[in-house]
Amino acid sequence: MFKSQLLKLFGTRLSVSFCAGLCASLCLNWPASALSPLPPPSPLKQEALRNFQQYLRMDTSNPPGNELPTARFLKALLDKEGIENQLFELGPENGKNRANLYAILRGDGSRKPLVFLHHMDVVPADPQFWAFPPFSGQIDKGFVYGRGAIDVKGKGIVDLYTLIRLKREKQPLKRDLIFLAVADEEVNSSGSRWMIQNKPELIRGAEFLIDEGKTVTENETGQALYAMVGIGEKSPLWLKLSFFGTPGHASVPMADNAVNRALRAAQKILAYSQEIPFEVLPGLAESLRLQYPGDVTRLPGYQKDMTRSLKNPAFLKALAEHPEINAMLRNTISITGMRGSDKTNIIPNSASLSLDCRLLPGQDKERFLQKLREVIGDKTVKIEIEEYYQSLYSPADTAYFASLERVLHRHYPGLPVVPTIFTSSTDSSLYRALGLKVYGFEAYRVDEATATRAHGNDERLGVEGFFWGLDFLHELVLDLNR
Ligand SMILES: [Zn+2]
Repeated sequence: MFKSQLLKLFGTRLSVSFCAGLCASLCLNWPASALSPLPPPSPLKQEALRNFQQYLRMDTSNPPGNELPTARFLKALLDKEGIENQLFELGPENGKNRANLYAILRGDGSRKPLVFLHHMDVVPADPQFWAFPPFSGQIDKGFVYGRGAIDVKGKGIVDLYTLIRLKREKQPLKRDLIFLAVADEEVNSSGSRWMIQNKPELIRGAEFLIDEGKTVTENETGQALYAMVGIGEKSPLWLKLSFFGTPGHASVPMADNAVNRALRAAQKILAYSQEIPFEVLPGLAESLRLQYPGDVTRLPGYQKDMTRSLKNPAFLKALAEHPEINAMLRNTISITGMRGSDKTNIIPNSASLSLDCRLLPGQDKERFLQKLREVIGDKTVKIEIEEYYQSLYSPADTAYFASLERVLHRHYPGLPVVPTIFTSSTDSSLYRALGLKVYGFEAYRVDEATATRAHGNDERLGVEGFFWGLDFLHELVLDLNR
């Protein structure tokens, strides 16, 4: 229904290639027939693109991360501009060469600070499955390729060059604008944890923190479809369940074999996981509709609109047939491990199950555990929590959302701006716990095929969408400082 509001943006995709030999500048082939001919990229954009490639060439595969050289690389760019910054080495307890980088462009203090966060580490990449070496920063047919392109070095460079541009323009700001690059998001979040433990005063007073998340989604012909913003994520609750029984030689079966207990519990947990009640968080109707891979109006129980339909159990059940949508609608349990005896002929003292549970933001962990105990109904069960943190969600009716909508609508009148939640975790929850309003939004346009390549092969970011993001974020920051 929003398609009628969409603008045809660009006739053809910009093609960018590098000059051979000593020429370091970009050769840009501007399509003569484009419906909206674009001006050539500004020197700032070209510089940002070159440094984006450079950033992608630095291998920060985690483990081990090795973010210190990238922190130094970003620091050098800030130093050159005279932007105040501090590099924090995390210390050997977090591994070798781990660091965070913090920079600040000061406003007059009449409004609360705005923080841009990104992580410098990336997940590993196997070059044999890539068309281009994953740490090459290669540009091909309008895309920059490299591990981290959309997760999330591209955002880091757009954030950084927004500070640089504002500084060069000597723009007066009301809010301090903070740039934060952290280590280790992909493994232990030790970079963000270090910041919160050791330097909370540098971020605590901020109003908004913008982390990785969703983007402006465009289709393959470059039409902007919608902007999606993460406002929360589910809480991970990882459990180890141990069961105890009478051990002995397996030639004599025992009724209270610990493995039998674990199996019976697993059966009950599986059955219960299908019955966990649905809960529709406020404001998520549009994101559920957009993320459902099909036409929701054809599902059983659909009534007039999403808000009404989401109150109908039959519709919810049909919608939740799609696993990702299901995970957005309820607490979930995945059984991920089982352990019994190491020896086939021995009944062990104990057996265990590993559960990866994910709770909707704002849920009560104790209530969930109590219900799980009731479901299992075995007095011998011992439940240990291996990982948990409380996850909150940030409201979608704030000055940030208002600015985002206002500025996006200058570019794309009527573009839907849609809040959503993430089923997995980022560093965002750690900062929500500090009292900040945290949003998952990367300021660029990304097509659907590109969006699925995060953590996958041939990760990339479109140059045109990246350039657009540099203008857009600059405008957004100015709007937030009015
Ligand atoms: Zn990421």
